[in-house]
Amino acid sequence: MGNPHVLAIPYPYQGHVLPLMELSLKLVDHGVKITFVNTEFIHNHVLINLVSIPDGMEPWEDRNDIGKLTESILRVMPGELEQLVKYINQNDVNESTCIIADESLGWALEVAERLKIKRAAFWPASAAVRALIFSIPKLIQDGVVDNNDGTILRNEMYTLTENMPVMNPKQFAWTCLGDSNTTKIMFKLIKHTNITVKLADWIICNTSYELEPAALCLFPDSLPIGPLLSGNRLGSSGYFWPADASCLAWLDQQPAQSVIYVAFGSFTIFDEKQFQELALGLESLNRPFLWVVRSDTIDKKPDMLLEQLKARIGQRGCIVSWAPQQAVLNHPAIGCFLSHCGWNSTMEGVSNGVPFLCWPYFGDQFINQTYICDVWKVGLALDKDETGIITRGEIKNKAEKLLNDKIFKQRGLIHQEMVMTDAQESGSSNKNMSNFIQWIK
Ligand code: UDP
Repeated sequence: MGNPHVLAIPYPYQGHVLPLMELSLKLVDHGVKITFVNTEFIHNHVLINLVSIPDGMEPWEDRNDIGKLTESILRVMPGELEQLVKYINQNDVNESTCIIADESLGWALEVAERLKIKRAAFWPASAAVRALIFSIPKLIQDGVVDNNDGTILRNEMYTLTENMPVMNPKQFAWTCLGDSNTTKIMFKLIKHTNITVKLADWIICNTSYELEPAALCLFPDSLPIGPLLSGNRLGSSGYFWPADASCLAWLDQQPAQSVIYVAFGSFTIFDEKQFQELALGLESLNRPFLWVVRSDTIDKKPDMLLEQLKARIGQRGCIVSWAPQQAVLNHPAIGCFLSHCGWNSTMEGVSNGVPFLCWPYFGDQFINQTYICDVWKVGLALDKDETGIITRGEIKNKAEKLLNDKIFKQRGLIHQEMVMTDAQESGSSNKNMSNFIQWIK
C-alpha cells in the first residue's frame, strides 16, 4: 500500500468548494495528502494555489447560469480529470490515489471506476435534498414530476416521510435554478447522479444525525460527518474573496445578542428596488446591524445609496464586502441572522445557536427555510407582499418579533447542543469521519 493521496473535486460554486475544502483540511490533519482540483476559473479566485482544470467556458461567460456551466463541465472535465490522474500516477509512484468528488459530479466517479481507483462521493447540502433527489422515481410514479424534463405536474404540498420538511413542488431544488431549459439540464444531471453514485465506495454528507434523523434514515447509504466548520481559521483557503475582519472589532463594541447579521451567501443578486427596501428596513430598526454587500450583489453599483445610509446611521451599522462569517456568527454580540438559507449558512447559524430571519432565493434554500422555521423552529420566514417585494415593514416587524421572543434563542441553543453532540469525539459525525479516514488510509 502506498501513502494515502486523495484527489478532491468540488462542484465549482462557493458553497460546494468550502465544505469540501474543510473536509480536505481534516484529512490533512490525519496524514492524508490532498490534491484539490478546481476549475481554472475558480482557481484564479481562491486564495491558495490549487490544481486546476478548465470548465470549458470562456473567462467572461456567466457562470451563474448553472445549466450552461453544467453542460460545459460534462463536455470538458472528464477527459481533463482522466489526464490529471494519469499524470499523477506516472509521477508519484509511491502514492495510492483516491477520489472524493462532489456527488453532483457523477462523471468523476465514472473516471475513477475506469481507472480502477478508490472513490467517495461528497454531498455538501442537506440530507433532505438528497432524499428528494433519490425519490425522483417515486415522484414520477406518483405523477408529481414529469419524467422527461422534471417539470411539476401536481402542485400539492409533498412530504417524503414524517418529520421531514413539507415541500412545495414548485420549490423542488432543480425547478428553481433558472428557466425551463435549466430545469431540464439539471433534472437530467440529477437523474444521472442517482445512477453514478452507486459507483462510490463511500458517500459522506455535510450534516448531522441530530439535525436530520428522518432524511438520513430514509437513505442510510450516506454517512453524516458534519457540520464541517473552519471557524475561519487561518489556512481555510476555499474562500473566493478575502474577509474584512474589521467587522469583528466593530462587533466587540456592541451589546450582547443585539446585532442583526445580514448575508446572502456568494451569488444571490438583488434588483435595485429590493436592495433599497432592505437598506430602509435595516435603517428603520433601532438596532445595530452588520451587512455583507458583495461587489456583485446588485447590477447597478449601490455606492451612493450606501454612502447616504452610512451618513444617516453612523456607527449603528457596519457594511463589509465579505465577512469572516463563521467568526461573526460565533460572536456574542450577534442577535439573529438574516440569511438566504444556503446550507452552509444554515449549518453555521445552527451550530452557533443563532436564530434566523429567512429570505430564500432558489435551489435548496426553500427546504432549508422549512427546516429552520417549521422543523427546528429556530427562525421566522420573511413574506413577500403582493408585488413580490419583502418590504421594510416586514423586515422590521419580523426582526422585532424574533429578537423579542426569547423562545427562538432558547431553541437555537438546544439545537446548537444537539449538533455539537454529533461533532464531539464520541459523536456520530466524528465516528463516521474516523472510519472514513481509516478507509482512505
Ligand atoms: N460566507 C462568508 N462570508 C460572507 C458570506 C458568506 O464567509 O460574507 C461563507 C459562509 O460562511 C458560507 C458560504 O460563504 O460558508 C456560503 O455558502 P452557502 O451554502 O450558505 O450559500 P451559497 O453561497 O452556496 O449560496
